[in-house]
Amino acid sequence: MFKSDADIKYIAGVGPKRAEILKRQLNVSTVGDLLTYFPYKYIDRSRFYTVAECNDDTQYVQLRGYVSGIELRGQGAKQRLIARFSDSTGTMELIWFKGIKYIVDHLKTDVEYIVFGKPTIFNGMINIAHPEMDVFNDANVKKNTGHIAYYNTTETMKRMFFTSDVIRKIIYGLYEKSGVVFDENMPDEIISRLGLIGRSEAIREVHIPSSLEMLKRAQFRLKFEELFYIQVSLLRSSALRTEKYRGFSFGRVGEYFNNFYDCYLPFPLTGAQKRVIREIRGDMNTGRQMNRLLQGDVGSGKTMVAMLTALIALDNGFQVAIMAPTEILANQHFENISSQLLPLGINVQLLTGNVKGKKRNKLLDGIRDGSVQIVIGTHALIEDTVVFCNLGYCVIDEQHRFGVAQRAKMWKKNICPPHVLVMTATPIPRTLAMTVYGDLEVSVIDELPPGRKPVATYHYYDNSRLQLYDFLHRQIALGRQVYIVYPLVKESEKIDLKNVEEGFCNVTDAFPECKVVMVHGQMKSAVKDVAMREFVDGKARIMVATTVIEVGVNVPNASVMVIENAERFGLSQLHQLRGRVGRGADQSFCILMSKYELARETKQRLSIMCATNDGFRIAEEDMRLRGPGDMEGLQQSGLPFDLKIASLATDGMILNLARDEAKSLLAKGLPPFVSEYADSLERRDGRGWGNIS
Ligand code: ADP
Ligand code: MG
Repeated sequence: MFKSDADIKYIAGVGPKRAEILKRQLNVSTVGDLLTYFPYKYIDRSRFYTVAECNDDTQYVQLRGYVSGIELRGQGAKQRLIARFSDSTGTMELIWFKGIKYIVDHLKTDVEYIVFGKPTIFNGMINIAHPEMDVFNDANVKKNTGHIAYYNTTETMKRMFFTSDVIRKIIYGLYEKSGVVFDENMPDEIISRLGLIGRSEAIREVHIPSSLEMLKRAQFRLKFEELFYIQVSLLRSSALRTEKYRGFSFGRVGEYFNNFYDCYLPFPLTGAQKRVIREIRGDMNTGRQMNRLLQGDVGSGKTMVAMLTALIALDNGFQVAIMAPTEILANQHFENISSQLLPLGINVQLLTGNVKGKKRNKLLDGIRDGSVQIVIGTHALIEDTVVFCNLGYCVIDEQHRFGVAQRAKMWKKNICPPHVLVMTATPIPRTLAMTVYGDLEVSVIDELPPGRKPVATYHYYDNSRLQLYDFLHRQIALGRQVYIVYPLVKESEKIDLKNVEEGFCNVTDAFPECKVVMVHGQMKSAVKDVAMREFVDGKARIMVATTVIEVGVNVPNASVMVIENAERFGLSQLHQLRGRVGRGADQSFCILMSKYELARETKQRLSIMCATNDGFRIAEEDMRLRGPGDMEGLQQSGLPFDLKIASLATDGMILNLARDEAKSLLAKGLPPFVSEYADSLERRDGRGWGNIS
């Protein structure tokens, strides 16, 4: 019997050479490591399928039947061997492109075969290319039985013939010859309440399933365990933080808030805005530091929430900082907020990289002596030279554009850390929010201001440009404004910039009836500002831009968003861009332009965009298509861990359960073996939630 920490080189079939490969390629050095290297898929050889059951979508199947009509077709490199294969329900073709001579010599028409492979349809006929074949007899049936596990291997391993099959045989042999025990890491109480199978049994079943039902139970148990321990770590560190840091208590809702709310509110708040403001207010008044994530789809009115809650901080005698990822956005927030707060006589200032010299020094003095009450800005706000008199509340807009470290810096701007509200319009699937941001409280604005019409979205190929221009002419004649956006990707910035500039020239020529402006990241800010201003004021009717306008920009009269080379954008980015329109009362449109030849996944992406305006659904689809690690919202911060078996895309239910169980166990006090196991995982993965805020 092996213990889980035994060195793998002692396992039969491994030895020093393979041990070295496993170590270097898969980071596997103990029996436990090997057995927690979980299969990525299973192929069902638990039963025989019939030919009639096979169609295009069928996964791998095994069939039994006879071969007839063996025939060579084509010449030279295109030569292929085709055999008819039949059972009592029908006939299909088996096809070989290679090794034809061997097959011709060995294939028999009077023997029953087991055929294994993946059916596809070609020319209206079901076929399996290069099937695995065995003569049908008891021994062969026994050899190929049950759900067979498949393991990922690296290219290097494949070159050395260290395939999935080799891994499977090693694991099989390990259990045949000796068996393995793992220490249980779940409290009895949870095991019995959820009816979990034991850890050792689950690990065995996940590699060598005794039945489909047992495989499912084993996967459930192991996914639960994995997510449970992530939640234990998260909740534990967030509890620790609450203990360590006290927070400001905003007990009063005073004159600033009430006065603005009663006399100057430009529109009635939506129910969701009211609820979220209540949540934030409650959280600011507990004596603990608030760390809250505010999610709300583009255009849901997060800015108003930020502003109203900022007034509560002012009412309690504190300063407020509002940080945005781009200058354009910081500018826009500044203009919007300072003009709305003008009648209250609040000192609102803007700090970006462009505020220089004397003006900057004066501003920094004002922040230091407390005369500046609200400062809005870019990254410039977190520089060391910015010293606050009494910062009590910090709002970070479009938080996914910032890294974790930048957020942490805001904490240090007062002796006691200010309350922090991070806002994002890139909806994060709930499962991700609960893991990556698991130590944040979450508020959701799930309602758009009244009267918004969903943006009608269409996908056109580049050859329909004339129709597109026709449509734009008509929209402009109706008094609307148009964005035309080009991709700008780091690696090819120069070529892309040429695209934007060329696009600008073409559009200027094609639309003599109106002014066209251009905005991109490499322009001087003064020039950019002038262009922005002309568009905001409605003097310019078309803005040709890069994704600098992706976040936050708000021009309600703009009703058409054209996205060029839409195939080069990710889903969340497309959704963000689309969010720039649909902000006024008019019907808005989003036109996705792409080249004709598209990969399947790209087509799916574009058709999801045409099908829904729901940011949460788009985020879920994005995660499903690309996997959580590649989610746009997370590029900077990244997932702080790897999941070995659970998937954030599909295991949301298990995650909820794991979080609830972890919460209630933590409330009762963690049993020592649970904390120790959590510690060991944190050490192994370098998981550090302690410094994520
Ligand atoms: P986002 O959540 O994307 O940051 P904004 O805060 O920019 O959205 O709001 C989008 C637009 O909706 C703005 O023009 C804003 O004035 C308007 N708005 C916000 N809340 C309401 C509301 N309750 N009723 C009507 N319009 C609103
Ligand atoms: Mg916004």
